[in-house]
Amino acid sequence: MANISTGNQVGEIAIELYDKDSRRQVIQPFTDGWDDAVIKTKKWLNGQHPIFEGAFTIDGAIALVDVLKIDNSKFSNHWHMIEVKSSTSLKKIQIEDAAFQYFVVSLCGVKLSSVSLACIDNHWNYINEGDYNGLVVEYDITEQVRELQEDVKVWLFDAHSVAEQSKEPTVAMGNQCNSPYECEFKAYCEGQSDRAMFPVEWLPQRRGKLKEFIAKNKIKDMRDIPDERLNEQQTLVKQCTVNNAYFLDKESAKQAMQHCHYPLYFLDFETINFGVPRWLDTSPYQQIPFQFSIHKVSDKGIISHKEFLDFSGNDPSFLLANQLIKDCEEGGSILVYNQAFEKKRIQELAERFPHIADNLLAINQRIVDLLPICKKYYYHPKQEGSWSIKKVLPNMVPTLNYGELEGVQHGGEAMDAFIEAVHPETTEKRRQEIDCQLRAYCKLDTWAMVGIWEFFNSSQ
Ligand code: SF4
Repeated sequence: MANISTGNQVGEIAIELYDKDSRRQVIQPFTDGWDDAVIKTKKWLNGQHPIFEGAFTIDGAIALVDVLKIDNSKFSNHWHMIEVKSSTSLKKIQIEDAAFQYFVVSLCGVKLSSVSLACIDNHWNYINEGDYNGLVVEYDITEQVRELQEDVKVWLFDAHSVAEQSKEPTVAMGNQCNSPYECEFKAYCEGQSDRAMFPVEWLPQRRGKLKEFIAKNKIKDMRDIPDERLNEQQTLVKQCTVNNAYFLDKESAKQAMQHCHYPLYFLDFETINFGVPRWLDTSPYQQIPFQFSIHKVSDKGIISHKEFLDFSGNDPSFLLANQLIKDCEEGGSILVYNQAFEKKRIQELAERFPHIADNLLAINQRIVDLLPICKKYYYHPKQEGSWSIKKVLPNMVPTLNYGELEGVQHGGEAMDAFIEAVHPETTEKRRQEIDCQLRAYCKLDTWAMVGIWEFFNSSQ
C-alpha cells in the first residue's frame, strides 16, 4: 500500500511538473475503457500539449506512456517520451520497459525524438510548500532504447509463443523468480517443485563465490555445499539446521553485555518514508520517525514504559526528538536491535535541530546493539537463516508472539497504518483503532528486547 501510494504521488507530481499550462490532458484507460483511451490519445496527438498516460496498441501489444511532450526543436510533430519512476536510480528493467513502449508507440506512427527516464532525486530537499521543482531528474536513454529495438521483437515473439502453448512451460525456479521483481506466481511454482529439506536460501550472506557455486551447480539443499565453502556463520546455520539443534553461548553473550549500565532503556522507532516529501526540510525517502517505544529497567528490576506517537499529520520530528531526550534523561545504556538504523535516525534529527543536537548525539553514545550479540551467540533452526527479532523471539521467549497482534505485525504495515491514520478522511474511530494497534506493535518490539536481555542474563 505504501509503495502504490508513492507511485501515485509521483505520477501526480509529474503532471504538476510537466503540465506547465495546466491543460490536464490525462488519459484514464481504466475508467474510460481501452478503446476510448486510444482514440483520445490519437486526438490529443494532433495538438501541442503534454499528454499523460497516453494509450497505444498494436497487434498483440499495448503500452501506456507516462508523459509525451511535443518537441519541435529539430523536426515538427516529434514527441519526447518520459517515463516517470519512483526509484532513485536507473535500472536495466526500466530501460527495457521504455524500449518496449518506444517500439509500440513508434509502430503506431508517432515520431519520437527522444526518450527519458525521470527518477526521484533523493538528495533534493523540500524547501518551499507545494514547490516540487527538482524532485525528479531526467536521464536521456534514447540511444539505449533504440539499440534494443531488435530485442523487443524477440521478446514479443517469445511472449506470444509461450502464451499460445496449451501447457505451461517447464522452467526451474531460480533468480528470475525474485529479480527484477518478485514473480506473482511464486507460491504456485513453489507448490509444484520439490522443496529441499534444508533450502540453501536459509544460509545467510549467500554472495560472491558461494552464490556462483550454488547457481552453477543448481544446488537446492545446503547439505550439498561442502563445508569448506562456508564461513563461520554459515557453518553454524548448516550444522544447527541439519542436526535440528540450537546454539547458545550464554556466557559470552553475558560478557558482551557486561559494560551496559542501569537504568537500561530498550528503544525502538517506527518510521515513515515518503517518496514525495510531505514535510518541509525533508528529502525523498528520508526515514522519519513518527513513533517510539521505550521499556526502562531499573537496577532493582522495576520495569516502566514510555512511548511517543504523533497522528497530527504534521512533521513529528521535533516533538519526537524532544520527548526522546526527556525519556532517556537519567543516563544508562540504551539497547536497540540493529543500531545502524536507530543511530542514523538520531543523527539525522541532530542535523535538523542543531540546538538540541548535543543531547541527541549523547543518546547515540549510549546505544548498545543486541543484534550482533544474538548473531554471534544464538541460533535456532526455526530462524531459517534470519536473526530478525521476529524470527529470534518465538524460540527464545515463546510467550511473546507477533502473530497475536491485531492489524500491525511488521514495519511495512506500521507505515501503511500511519498513512491511513493521518489521512483527513479517516474516521476518529478508525484512527483510535490504529493508535492501539501501533502502540501494541512498537511496545512488543521493545518488550521483546527486554525478553532477549533476560534470556541471556538469566542463570538457567
Ligand atoms: S515463480 Fe515466476 S519466474 Fe519463477 S519459475 Fe514460476 S513463473 Fe517463472
